[in-house]
Amino acid sequence: MATSLSSRLRAELAGLRDQGLSIHPRVLDAANRARTRVDGRDVVNLASNNYLGFADHPEIKARAEQYLREWGAGAGAVRTIAGTLRIHEDFEEQLAAFKHTGSALVLGSGFTTNQGVLGTLLQPGDLVVSDELNHASIIDGLRLTKATKKIYKHADPEDLDRVLAENDADGLKLVVTDGVFSMDGDIAPLGRLIEVARKYGAVTYVDDAHGSGVLGADGRGTVHHFGFETAEDVIQVGTLSKAWGVVGGYAAGHPDLRELLINRARPYLFSTAHPPAVVGALSAALDLVQREPEFMARLWENTRYFKAELARLGFDTLGSQTPITPVLFGEAEAAFEASRRLFAEGVFAVGLGFPTVPRGQARIRNIVTAEHTRDDLDFALAAYARVGRALSVAQG
Ligand SMILES: *Cc1c(COP(=O)(O)O)cnc(C)c1O
Repeated sequence: MATSLSSRLRAELAGLRDQGLSIHPRVLDAANRARTRVDGRDVVNLASNNYLGFADHPEIKARAEQYLREWGAGAGAVRTIAGTLRIHEDFEEQLAAFKHTGSALVLGSGFTTNQGVLGTLLQPGDLVVSDELNHASIIDGLRLTKATKKIYKHADPEDLDRVLAENDADGLKLVVTDGVFSMDGDIAPLGRLIEVARKYGAVTYVDDAHGSGVLGADGRGTVHHFGFETAEDVIQVGTLSKAWGVVGGYAAGHPDLRELLINRARPYLFSTAHPPAVVGALSAALDLVQREPEFMARLWENTRYFKAELARLGFDTLGSQTPITPVLFGEAEAAFEASRRLFAEGVFAVGLGFPTVPRGQARIRNIVTAEHTRDDLDFALAAYARVGRALSVAQG
């Protein structure tokens, strides 16, 4: 007899609960800001990806409203049929100019961008070599391809060299890495990875979800930070949902890449174009980051301060180099307990366990933003000090 739906659901959920891995998202009762209200409590928010504080920025909201009024609530179709509005094309040109690439194409989200680009580009007979800590959307994107898949050790150019030496291919060779790793906050050693890739004639593919708006001049991203933005053997993809504060994904590179994606990328062909308000907000976000360098300056000033103070309190931040600031607790239950205690103290910071991070490396991931004041950070640090002492985690 077949399994009933209810028994399948109950068995799956019981398994998650037994392992303490069941997720119950907290609910924000106000806009996503540095100080907000969550589940009825006023908190300092260290849980967002809203690096520059753009998610609720007045100038960005004003452009969203303007585009909404002028261009409507929805795009009305997929891009390839009747959904490409002039504002979509204009924003892609703005994004390509910002990225210093020949072209850019916007897709629904960063997640679908990896599926679309990897699924389009890679064919049987190709070789793809991927960092072991790459984002889930890269892993899923690679599942869509018939290319030979290999893994190299996290951020390790020597291991990449070994894998490329041991595996040849007549087709395209692609090295895939996050620009900034979303769980540890470390930066990929891009210069050395590209050097190794070139030795074997491989192209480098960088998912810069957490690097754009954070690294490089005016937030142009990790590839720009390392000086490879005009290289023809580097493909940049990323998201418009983190530092840019809204939603969307993009691929930036040679115009031929854009044209191929328009013709073949399934999330582009079969999913409706972004609504005008999204496009308006994004174009304002790109203007703002270039006009006002203070956003990035404050982001980095806050990042340095917060990390230094956590270290002084004796916490292990896993060598993070960016505003992503993990605090290691080890077992998942300890990280979740710390998160609950911090919340009771008015600090919203989320615990992450397996499978999001490796077993035994459960942590709370904090993301500092440009919007936090010194008072916000001091408030959070005082709570961390008390919780760390109570749970015997910090040595300081
Ligand atoms: C967040 C993230 C994505 C997904 O982006 P969305 O726009 O939220 O779908 C993809 N890749 C990496 C590395 C990410 O951190």
